[in-house]
Parts: sequence; structure tokens; C-alpha cells
Amino acid sequence: MMDARRQAYLDAMGIRVWVRRQSAPEPESAFVSDEQAPPVSDFERMALDWDELAARVGVCERCPQLVASRTRTVFGVGSHKADLMVIGEAPGADEDHQGQLFVGDSGKLLDKMLRAAGFSRRTVYLATIVKCRPPDDRDPEPDELSACVGYLRRQIELVNPGVILAVGTAAESLLEADRPTGPLRGDVHRYLVTDTPVIVTHNPAHLLCSPAEKREVWDDLRLLKRVYGRAIT
Ligand code: SF4
Repeated sequence: MMDARRQAYLDAMGIRVWVRRQSAPEPESAFVSDEQAPPVSDFERMALDWDELAARVGVCERCPQLVASRTRTVFGVGSHKADLMVIGEAPGADEDHQGQLFVGDSGKLLDKMLRAAGFSRRTVYLATIVKCRPPDDRDPEPDELSACVGYLRRQIELVNPGVILAVGTAAESLLEADRPTGPLRGDVHRYLVTDTPVIVTHNPAHLLCSPAEKREVWDDLRLLKRVYGRAIT
């Protein structure tokens, strides 16, 4: 049986059933829909461009608790033509104050991770599943994820990256996987709306508290480099 979080997300995406694809040469573990074509999002139907999308997010009040506690919405930042998108789950306190993503010590660590994989912050696009900081940095609720996921979906459609790096719990939401982040690492998943490869790794903020897991992140970044190399050739 699906839990409420999974069901709400799938409903928002217009997807009824997920099935797992058979294994592929690279350790692929893609979650794919049983439908022939991905559903068209409201945002795609409206064909919102970057300015229109950012304006829509800037005045969004769909989530009453988040609207009451946020300082501002945090839309996303980076190159609109990026080959790599980095996706976290939600803005934190620093992001909420500064209106930027991955700032402070965790941002510096993300920069190191990007450099290790051959990228720089200027050449990637950073976004989150939800655009407003949840109170006390709690996890976003299923209805908040459902309310906001269309914005991210349109961002991914507009950037059309070659690969996505999902950090921390964002991976579970993006893939709607019934596994936590740890077991999702090491496989190549797919964001089925755009058929984009997704690599999963730890959130840099988590690494600051658990530096022993940097070795695992290095393994994830090597996988990212391999998949990116294939995606752009
Ligand atoms: Fe709107 Fe997303 Fe903020 Fe909810 S989290 S109020 S859907 S921008």
C-alpha cells in the first residue's frame, strides 16, 4: 500500500502507478511510470517562461504554514542552460534570510563537491523541491510537496539538464522512492518527466555533522562524472 506522502505526490504528478525497470548495465535502478508518455504539467500547458515562473513563485501562498513562517520564497539560482541541476529539499534558515541556496558552510562544501566532479557553481542550476522554509526546518508535509512540485518540474523542463544531482531527502521526494536516501545512492535513477538521469548523494549540511561519509560522497561524484560524460556525448 502507498503511504499518504507517496500518494499525494503521485496525484500531483498525474501518475498512478510506479514499476521498477529491470537492471541495466550501469547500476541503474530507474523508477518509471507504466504510462506511455509523462503527463503534461499545468506549468508546461501554460508555457511559463523563467520570468513568469519566478513571478508566480514570488507571490505564491499555497502553503499557509510556510507563508506564515517564511521571510521570502527562494526560487533557485544558476545557469538556465546548465548541464547539471542540483536539487535539495527546502531552504534552510540562511537561505530564507539571504534568498540564495546552499549558502554558509554547507554551501562551501557543495562548491568543493562540484569542483571534484568538474563543475563550478556558475555552470550549474540550484533548486529545491519546495521554495519556502518550513518552520523550525521540519520536513515539508506531503501537501506542501504536492503544492510546490510543479514549480520545480517547470524549472527542470526549462533547464533540461543532462543530469540531476539530488542531495539528501530531496532524492526521496524527487524520485518518490519508498527507500531513504542512503539505499538510493550508487544507482542511476531517472526523473521520468524529462527522462533525466538522477544521481543521489548526501546533503552537504549532513556531511558537516558526519564527515566520515565524505568517502561515500566521493563515490557518488565519480558516478556523476561518468553519467554526465555519457549524457553530453
Ligand atoms: Fe507556494 Fe511552494 Fe511556498 Fe508552498 S512552498 S507557498 S507552493 S512557493
